[in-house]
Amino acid sequence: MFYDLHIHSCLSPCAEDEMTPNNICNMAFIKGLDLIAVTDHNSTRQLRSVSRVASELGLHLLYGAELESSEEVHVLALFGSLEQAESLQPWIDEHLPVIPNRPDFFGNQLLMNEEDEVVGKEDRLLIVSLSASLEECVQAIHDRGGRAVLAHVLDRANSVTQQLGFIPMDLPYDGLEIKSLEQMARVTKTHPWITADSTVWFVDSDAHRLTEISEPEQTITHEAVRKLWGDIL
Ligand SMILES: [Zn+2]
Ligand SMILES: [Zn+2]
Repeated sequence: MFYDLHIHSCLSPCAEDEMTPNNICNMAFIKGLDLIAVTDHNSTRQLRSVSRVASELGLHLLYGAELESSEEVHVLALFGSLEQAESLQPWIDEHLPVIPNRPDFFGNQLLMNEEDEVVGKEDRLLIVSLSASLEECVQAIHDRGGRAVLAHVLDRANSVTQQLGFIPMDLPYDGLEIKSLEQMARVTKTHPWITADSTVWFVDSDAHRLTEISEPEQTITHEAVRKLWGDIL
């Protein structure tokens, strides 16, 4: 199955307003992707309308969010059901500092329905660190049945290697996200306890605009999906 498990909607201030539920799902569908995840910064509030559009198209969806830990590390929370993902929202609300968004400076944080009509906006700025450590973020994801994937692990901004210097050996993450398969060799070389087979590797787009959504290049097997998220396909 062709996948892209890191896509921002127009709820993320840094994403374009064109990242509507219908535009994202239709673009993924047209490109021939089989499985996508929408992962807004510190929020699950766009997922319900995205899930309605995806199911209309027969597109498989994981329900995500990109959490930012107190160490400023980005970690993807990926759930097999909307209910699981939404059960994380009260925890996020509790740990999100109350800083008002300034749309003129940071960008809009739009909530849309399944018709792409603006039905609200998030007033608190979403691109900030939660008051929870990386370990606590992973625990909160696991407590609700989700999987934790360390995002863009070799990036210069908000990656585990940039913020902590390395990938902690005892952190119980479920997968590592890289920008290309060549990065896998760099990770395993600098972290001898990580091998090609010791974790699940994801290559996602981290799309903030429509054209950035992945081409059908990266694949995941049904078996791998079942192992991580159960019988969701
Ligand atoms: Zn990120
Ligand atoms: Zn992202």
